[in-house]
Amino acid sequence: MRNEEMLLIPGPTPVVDSIYDALAQETRSHTDARFAAIFREALERTKEMLKTDGEVFVVSGSGTLAMEMAIINTVAPGEKILVISQGYFGDRFIKLGQAFGVLVDVVQSEWGKQVDPIEVEKQLAGTQYKAVTITHADTSTGVAADLEVLVPIIKQHGALVILDGVCATAAMEEDMSKEYGEANAKIDVILTGSQKAIGVPPGLAIVAFNQTALAAREKLGQVPGYYTDIYNWIPIMHDPQKYFATPPVNLVYAYNEGMRLVLEEGMEKRYKRHTAYGKAVRAALAVYGMKALAEETAAAATLSCILYPEGLDDVGFRAALAQKGLIVAGALAHLAGKAFRIGHMGNTTEEMLERAIVLIGETMNEQGFSVDFSKAVDVFKGIATAQAF
Ligand SMILES: *Cc1c(COP(=O)(O)O)cnc(C)c1O
Repeated sequence: MRNEEMLLIPGPTPVVDSIYDALAQETRSHTDARFAAIFREALERTKEMLKTDGEVFVVSGSGTLAMEMAIINTVAPGEKILVISQGYFGDRFIKLGQAFGVLVDVVQSEWGKQVDPIEVEKQLAGTQYKAVTITHADTSTGVAADLEVLVPIIKQHGALVILDGVCATAAMEEDMSKEYGEANAKIDVILTGSQKAIGVPPGLAIVAFNQTALAAREKLGQVPGYYTDIYNWIPIMHDPQKYFATPPVNLVYAYNEGMRLVLEEGMEKRYKRHTAYGKAVRAALAVYGMKALAEETAAAATLSCILYPEGLDDVGFRAALAQKGLIVAGALAHLAGKAFRIGHMGNTTEEMLERAIVLIGETMNEQGFSVDFSKAVDVFKGIATAQAF
């Protein structure tokens, strides 16, 4: 890999050479038949990954734009949504909804914990919601949402399920054909971005709507968006030679290659690999006395928020790691300075993670701790390789 640094933040994630190569292909007209064929293939692959019989949209923008597209195309101003929040990105739906005049109620967990499904149930029993948002992996806390529990409860109350998969899609199970509990209890909208578990540079917003969500769009008539109105994009997604707004041609090349890699590995394998890497990283760091914020049973497969042991300085620690070529992220909001976040998703390899464990141990020792990084590496390998992918 031609990367000089290991970018183990919760996105963007390490980009592999074949994706860089795709990105560097000649920029062609966005209406060129050769480009359209690549775009069409990328869209087909996206559908295959999510197993949807609905519509997928791949447009210029970040994950936040995808969140906005999900909301404005399903919920009208004045209608109600329930936000299930397990951190900073869950909370983002509150302001986002309010920006469009949507009435927002929230069920929040304490940071590091999952929401209590009984509270969700109570809230749904008391009020009719048009949609409920779930953040699959909250990037601020490393907490995963329990779809097996939440989706059936929401569907029993007739609301749409909107899943923010920005830090999960392609790494944690997201299957739009899956029935949760009863017939047709499915995830209605999934949104993501290119730069996290898909492993492509940032710049693409990706959204999928099933038939129920498309029916909701139809009922809305006009929506408070133009670039974000899926009706402006459906003709392009059906025939990428048509024009609505110029797609990022080179990024689409890169995304198509990223999706090729995702499907080549296979979804089941990817889900298992990410689960194993997440467990292995957290167990290895525990050898250093570093504890994950999330309980292991609620921890995301894609990234971990790791609390510092007493006396380890956040800024100095991350700067020393950066000097060694390992980039990890600081923590958000009230956890700033008290924890760091490490990504283990997308095209991140076992070798990279093993190296990261060593570098973290070395850095701790340089900063006056006394940790055994060969033991941590053994723990890491024991879990990461226990499963043949
Ligand atoms: C990163 C992230 C977002 C925001 O995505 P951007 O690409 O930064 O706009 C939203 N939700 C989750 C869960 C994320 O991890």
